[in-house]
Order: sequence, then C-alpha cells, then structure tokens
Amino acid sequence: MLARTAILGWLEETRSEQLAWLFRWADEVRREAVGDLVHLRGLIELSNHCCRDCSYCGLRRSQPDLPRYRLTMDEIMASAREAVALGYGSVVLQSGDDPELREDFISQVIQTIRAETPLAITLSLGERKQSELVAWRRAGAERYFLRFESSNPSLLARYRPARLHRGTSRIALLHCVRELGYEVGSGIMVGLPGQTLDDLARDICLFRELDLDMIGVGPYIAAGEPIGPAAGERQVPASAAMTRRVVALARVTCPDTNIPGTTALVAASTTSAGGPDWALDAGSNVIMPPLTPEHQRRKYRIYPKPEDLTDAANVRRSIAEHIARQGRLPGLGPGASLHWQRRVGSTVGTRREPPEGRVSAEGGTRHARSVA
Ligand code: SAH
Repeated sequence: MLARTAILGWLEETRSEQLAWLFRWADEVRREAVGDLVHLRGLIELSNHCCRDCSYCGLRRSQPDLPRYRLTMDEIMASAREAVALGYGSVVLQSGDDPELREDFISQVIQTIRAETPLAITLSLGERKQSELVAWRRAGAERYFLRFESSNPSLLARYRPARLHRGTSRIALLHCVRELGYEVGSGIMVGLPGQTLDDLARDICLFRELDLDMIGVGPYIAAGEPIGPAAGERQVPASAAMTRRVVALARVTCPDTNIPGTTALVAASTTSAGGPDWALDAGSNVIMPPLTPEHQRRKYRIYPKPEDLTDAANVRRSIAEHIARQGRLPGLGPGASLHWQRRVGSTVGTRREPPEGRVSAEGGTRHARSVA
C-alpha cells in the first residue's frame, strides 16, 4: 500500500528509467488484479445543457456560443442498439447537469435499454437529487460516475460559483450512490491551474479512502475561459504524461478497480505518433468509444477537440486493432468492477437481475447484496 509521501515522491520523479519502472509495475498489478480483458463501454452523451457554471468546463451555462441539444428516446435507443451491434457490453449515459432530463424520462430510458438489450448501464448525469438516484437504481442502472474533480475545496471554489453549488457535495453524493448499491466511480482532472502536486497526492489517497469501484482521470484542457493562476513550481502539468502517471498510481493504489483511458487523455495525446493513447500499458483496462449521433457529438464540447467524424464501426475496428497490438483481449460482457463484486459479495461477472423494488434510500447496502 502506497503512503501519501510515496505517491508524492512518484509525482515529483523526473528520472525516465524510474518512471518506466512505475508503468511496468502498474501494468503488472493490472494483469494480476483484473486480467487482460479491456472492457468496452459505448459513451452516449444525452444532453449538453447544464445548470451549473464551472468555469473550467465548456458546457457551463454562461458559455454563449455553444448550440445546445438533448437526445430523444429514439436517438438514445438507436445508439444503444449500435452498442450491442458493435459488441459493447455496457453504455455510459453522460450529460451536463440538466434538470430537464427529468427523473421519469431517465427511468424510462434505463428500463427500455434493460428490456431491449443486454447492456449494463452507467449514469454520469452530474449532481442529482437523492430521490432521482433511488429511482434510477430501481429502474435498473448499475453504476454511477461522478468525479470529485479535486480533493482541495478551495481550489474548486475558484472555479465554481458558490450559489450554484450550495447544498450539494460530490463526496456526500458518492456515499449516497454507494449506499444505493451502485458501482461507484469518481475521478479528477489533472492540471487545473492552481492544482499542486500535493493536492494530486491527496486526490489519489482519496480514491482509496472512498473505496472506489471505477476511477476516471483526464488532463485539464483549456476551454477558452479566463482561468485561475498557476501554482508556481508545484503546479501539476496538464499533460498526457502526468495523466498516465496518475493512472498508474491509481492502479497500484486501487488494484481491482476499473480504470478507463479517458477521452480527454486521448484528445491530449492524439498528435503523438502511434495513434490514440488509451493508457492500456499504464494500468487502464477500459475504453469508452463515443456513440453519440455524429451531428450532436461535436456539440458536446466540454473542451475543444478535433472534429472527429469517424463512424462508430471504424472506431470499433481501430480499438480492436489497438487492443490486439497491446497483447490484450476485448471484454465481451458488461464487465462489472471486480472491486464492486468483492465489496458486495458477488461472484457474477455477467448481467444481474433487474433490481426492481429492492432498493431504498435507507437500506441500500443490504439491498445491493440481494441484487447481486
Ligand atoms: N455533468 C457531469 C458530467 C459532465 S463532464 C458531471 O459534472 O459529472 C465530465 C467531466 O469532464 C467532468 O467531471 C470533468 O472532470 C471533465 N471536464 C470538464 N471540463 C474539462 C476540461 N476543460 N478539460 C478536461 N476535462 C474537463
């Protein structure tokens, strides 16, 4: 188990042979703890409307020149069917914090996907009400992903207007989704201006304290907003290289979690030779190819990204080739986190029965066992 000081030592390391050793270590831990499968999750971006105003994010509500969209049920189901056709075992439904994505609509989406496909469902819909989280779990969603972004509240306060975040705590919500029996995912941005290496070491320790099932980390990519001052020589670089280092440290700290190579990491590293970097050799075991309809995908502009009009089948093909080149195997089922399976005492790797009627806000953990 790595102590915070040791994590900090790795973050400050400059010798390339030492860093190469860290990546080999993370790769070894990954192989022993979760094996060679790379789980594929189709990413469906439901809406780019957002009621919050985090100044680092290109979807923030004060962003003037972003055309907004919300997918229809038919569009979502077409994407879900495409996920099945491409052999993906699960989908991630993500959006801005959009209150117009009503509880009933999302419940209906979940129930329809569960009824018509074998897909597992991860929700990443931001800071939502507890009653909604209860309803969606009951409707059949298995996983919830919500980054705490940084363990340093004063850093986050620089970016978030307090009036739009009053009464919500992402850490409290993560405890809530855990109680409800969801697989719990969280993560951070690497390199927000003002973020220090000490903050980053604390973030990695918090992954372990929160006992996460999934960890997603990506580099901060400037989204055109006026942004805070850097933290001098302790500033974390917002680079693909530092993000790979954080992926590796997350893997050795939390061995049996699911860790994706994130879209932001790929966006920050696509210019280098050799194509997209999914960090498969640095500890990751999940890839989330985009499935949002192409005319809407370009509007999901959390950060500026190169126009990517590659269709889903081509993306699927290039990912399959990449996985094979790395000597790995594509996962075919839902790919539940092994950490979650151990935590709730489940041994299944396949689809679970719908949890209809078994989850309550009060007794989530107990119910999670019966769902498993
Ligand atoms: N509204 C949801 C999900 C949307 S954004 C939520 O808040 O959870 C998904 C993630 O994108 C955020 O959690 C954040 O970590 C990341 N993100 C936001 N702005 C970014 C930027 N400028 N560069 C890189 N990642 C960013």
